[in-house]
Amino acid sequence: MTLQIALIAHDKKKSDLIEFAQEHQETLSRADIMATGTTGKRLMEATDLEVDRKESGPLGGDLQIGGKVADGTCDGIIFLRDPLRAQPHEPDISALLRICDVHDVPLATNLASAEHFISGMFS
Ligand code: PGA
Repeated sequence: MTLQIALIAHDKKKSDLIEFAQEHQETLSRADIMATGTTGKRLMEATDLEVDRKESGPLGGDLQIGGKVADGTCDGIIFLRDPLRAQPHEPDISALLRICDVHDVPLATNLASAEHFISGMFS
């Protein structure tokens, strides 16, 4: 079964996520990748990954990905959050993190855990 992985990054962290995805492109290309709107656009511009782009985070993209977690069609999330800035759609983000905990779906929120996520999920 192909892994379904979601990639999300807040604006200040998008460059980090792009760099990460470039480094791990070969591995990530073995999974089906979904992403929030702007993150997905940046990923498609900077890598050869095929990305299922959801709405932008503030327009409901986080919730769409949360819905995938709830129905068992998202196996894990890398979400590079900006810890220094409150996001206007913080309730949606909290809902996404919560649903991952409810369903015990792995969620990496920084580059160090994202490295472990990759080695664990694809081993
Ligand atoms: P974006 O959304 O990729 O559309 O910027 C991410 C977020 O803000 O949660």
